Amino acid sequence: MFVLCRRRIALAGALASVLAAPAPAHAAEPLRVVATFSILGDLVRQVGGERVAVQTLVGPGADAHVFQPAPTHARQVGQAQLVVSNGLGYEGWMPRLLQSTGYKGPQVVATQGIKPIKGDKDHGHDHDHGHADPHAWQSVPNAIVYVKNIGDGLCAADAAGCAAYRAGAARTTDELKKLDADIRTAWAPIPLPERKVITSHAAYAYYGQAYDVRFLSPQGVSTESEASAKGVAQLVRQIRRDGIRALFIENVSDPRLIQQIARETGLKPAGRLFSDSLTLAGGGAPTYVDMMRANTQALVRAVAGRP
Ligand code: ZN
Repeated sequence: MFVLCRRRIALAGALASVLAAPAPAHAAEPLRVVATFSILGDLVRQVGGERVAVQTLVGPGADAHVFQPAPTHARQVGQAQLVVSNGLGYEGWMPRLLQSTGYKGPQVVATQGIKPIKGDKDHGHDHDHGHADPHAWQSVPNAIVYVKNIGDGLCAADAAGCAAYRAGAARTTDELKKLDADIRTAWAPIPLPERKVITSHAAYAYYGQAYDVRFLSPQGVSTESEASAKGVAQLVRQIRRDGIRALFIENVSDPRLIQQIARETGLKPAGRLFSDSLTLAGGGAPTYVDMMRANTQALVRAVAGRP
């Protein structure tokens, strides 16, 4: 872990007292915001625009589940004026990081106010969930709640920019409402019984609930352990019985299990879904909206049996 630095603690303390004072009418410097992972970072940028300088701890393509904060992350948090996390146990490493940096400034827990889905015990990897599935951003109506919470947090950290943040949140919400409508339109031609998808990582329960899609993941299997023969055999039977065609690999999980199922069923993986992380520019999902559009297009195409 990172070494505690007295100067850092002093600095964090100084920042906290600055934050307690009224913000200047015109902040020359952008507000320093730390978001825990790339999807949140994007939403904060959309809402905050030019008034914010956003750093993400877990960057594009990286996996928040196996993240270990380094001294550079502690430094970013120590200098932040607002910290935005997902919550629902997603960032198990966060309390310790906050404690070690002495951060006392405002925080946003983006999932505050959403209705959590109960976590699957057989979730394909090991978040420390508590009881809730943390992948709430996979439903656009939830992302709209994230945007509201982020807007409120930005206002709390920088009152002078509040009108701009409210406008940014309204603009982003409009864009997300359009995205939500487009996802529903994309699924509309697919009959409900055909909306079944296999993914290795059980990250799509919120998407499934919002858009009436059934996601199945290999049971009792963690990316850290060998696939249980029984779990895989059950899934293979179900794929054959239900005529499931859509088999996916995600950008943050180990593809071996899905490859095994592909071999046993003769199904070809329909490509890659984005689950817990965005990509760099040009990688297919540099923003949240891009990610949801790319996933939806890939899912609908696979379920409909189109190449
Ligand atoms: Zn996950």
